[in-house]
Amino acid sequence: MSPEEEKALLSEEDALSARPVQIVVAHEDDHAFELDEAALERILLQEHVRDLNVVVVSVAGAFRKGKSFLLDFMLRFMYNQRPHRHTSCSWLGGHEEPLTGFTWRGGCERETTGILAWSDVFVVDKPDGSRVAVLLIDTQGAFDSQSTIKDCATLFALSTMTSSVQLFTEYGRLALEEIYEKPFQTLMFLIRDWSYPYEHPYGLDGGKSFLEKRLQVKQNQHEELQNVRKHIHSCFSNIGCFLLPHPGLKVATNPNFDGRLTDIDDDFKTELVNLVPILLSPKNLVEKEIGGSKVTCRDLVQYFKAYMKIYQG
Ligand code: GDP
Ligand code: MG
Repeated sequence: MSPEEEKALLSEEDALSARPVQIVVAHEDDHAFELDEAALERILLQEHVRDLNVVVVSVAGAFRKGKSFLLDFMLRFMYNQRPHRHTSCSWLGGHEEPLTGFTWRGGCERETTGILAWSDVFVVDKPDGSRVAVLLIDTQGAFDSQSTIKDCATLFALSTMTSSVQLFTEYGRLALEEIYEKPFQTLMFLIRDWSYPYEHPYGLDGGKSFLEKRLQVKQNQHEELQNVRKHIHSCFSNIGCFLLPHPGLKVATNPNFDGRLTDIDDDFKTELVNLVPILLSPKNLVEKEIGGSKVTCRDLVQYFKAYMKIYQG
């Protein structure tokens, strides 16, 4: 076996053992958050990544907004960038291939509020010659009762503070009322089931014009809403919006749907192929910065600990 082949086999094994790991647990009974430091360190202090600058891409939103579904496609994109994979075929995957990754929870998926990280940290060479580590994160909150709204805000703030790119998923609308302050780099609203492509076309351009309209500050708006709109611009250096079409009835309603491409509408797949590289192409990866400096995986562990203290205090 050539060293190359051996390496490929090894990373294949990595891929097999890779899984979502809960790093922040929200205890609903006493509204406390707990960081699983050991789990976080196992992921971020791996020798081959700990000293690399980190790109943290997090998908945040309430339950059942298709976060895992999207993240699984993001995983496919990342795994298919590895050199040993034949990149000639589309990264989207085989027609009949079930989706695995964040959704693959062995049927015991409990709807836990908290933050999950993908255990495999991807190493990517950017076109400018730098090498970065890419961490994918799933942040799930619950907007189901008044008492949890604050928890939810805390959770999203935490994930925003620790990520360089945050996607916020929403179905068919944009509820700015539910977005809380807290600064930083790139915020991308992902509007799913968009059904007015004749008003604003699918994709990034349609999203931009839609977002501009939604973010307009109007005279007759409630002052609080006006403030959210003003504030959001001062918090993120980059705000985008992407309009995704409805993925089709099988995806939305069939309990036996396992993520295979044949069951997904073509329009949706077309836009997915546009969206994922915008977020994850080597040239588009945004390194996490705090106070204007890039942050390594090792640094990120410390920031996580520090931020947790703030919210616990
Ligand atoms: P999560 O709780 O946010 O991780 O959501 P999941 O990824 O588990 O998806 C929840 C449900 O929504 C599943 O039945 C998916 O098949 C479905 N789903 C995924 N993406 C979309 C979408 O864009 N629109 C609709 N309507 N349903 C979707
Ligand atoms: Mg999920």
